[in-house]
Amino acid sequence: MSAIVIDGKALAAKVKEQVRAKAKKLNAQPGLAVIIVGDNPASRVYVNGKKKDCEECGFFSQEYALSGTTSQQELLELIGKLNERQDIDGILVQLPLPEQFDEQEVLRAIRPDKDVDCFHPYNVGKLMIGEEGYLPCTPSGVMRMLEEYGVEVAGKHCVVVGRSNIVGKPQAILMLRKHATVTICHSRTSDLADQCRRADILVAAVGRTGLITADMVKEGAVVIDVAMNRNEQGKLCGDVCYEEVAQKASYITPVPGGVGPMTRAMLMENTLYAAQSHGK
Ligand code: NAP
Repeated sequence: MSAIVIDGKALAAKVKEQVRAKAKKLNAQPGLAVIIVGDNPASRVYVNGKKKDCEECGFFSQEYALSGTTSQQELLELIGKLNERQDIDGILVQLPLPEQFDEQEVLRAIRPDKDVDCFHPYNVGKLMIGEEGYLPCTPSGVMRMLEEYGVEVAGKHCVVVGRSNIVGKPQAILMLRKHATVTICHSRTSDLADQCRRADILVAAVGRTGLITADMVKEGAVVIDVAMNRNEQGKLCGDVCYEEVAQKASYITPVPGGVGPMTRAMLMENTLYAAQSHGK
């Protein structure tokens, strides 16, 4: 078998086009504030990407590039001001923050109705109990890909490798909400290969190049690679050994061009949702 490649780039372009069309019909432009602290080169690339996405979707975006010596108090004050601004619907703080910051306190300072990343405990709680609201960008991007390619989730065994608050855990919750049976694996899982082989849908979200090999994948499984790693040549790659796994899987996401662009598109959807919920 040779897997069907799930084209995240093409699907993200379609989603952004839909967002743009809906945004045009609003009575005011959706606005996104993006805060970046310090000079992490990867964060800079992500923030530039978000700015470009906002332009494509017809949103207003404002970047706040703060020096690495900014204090927690200064950052909290900025968030406080943005919370009150009518032209700003969504506030995003690019992670990771430099070491001196208490990241959780910063994320909690964002007003839940402007929390387009869905990291605030209030929104995470709503996600957990299945109430309507923001969905976290990366996991909801994965769900959208599965839906678009007609992959049924209900009744399937989904194995999520990774249990972070931004990817693994919410991914498992979204799959559970769609009636999958879900296994979450992590660094203490005793037989990762054995768990992975049970998956109808396998999601790799670890950050280790080459972790998922073909012998860990069931024939015909759907394989989603969330990771964004750099290999020894500095090339962007995922956790999955793509070439060999593509011979066994029924569907597979590439890296780059898979989950990454979908994460960005889902942020635009969340910002549109924020603007709508603010009565724009
Ligand atoms: P993270 O916070 O470092 O979490 C990694 C998870 O992997 C942890 O739960 C860890 O387990 C687990 N793990 C580590 N080694 C393992 C092993 N040998 N076997 C099984 N599990 C193992 O990372 P993250 O923020 O979730 O990100 C994961 C990857 O996704 C990274 O490559 C990141 O760059 C990428 N990412 C991509 C997007 C996108 O848009 N495509 C968005 C976000 C993140 P413990 O909990 O036990 O430590």
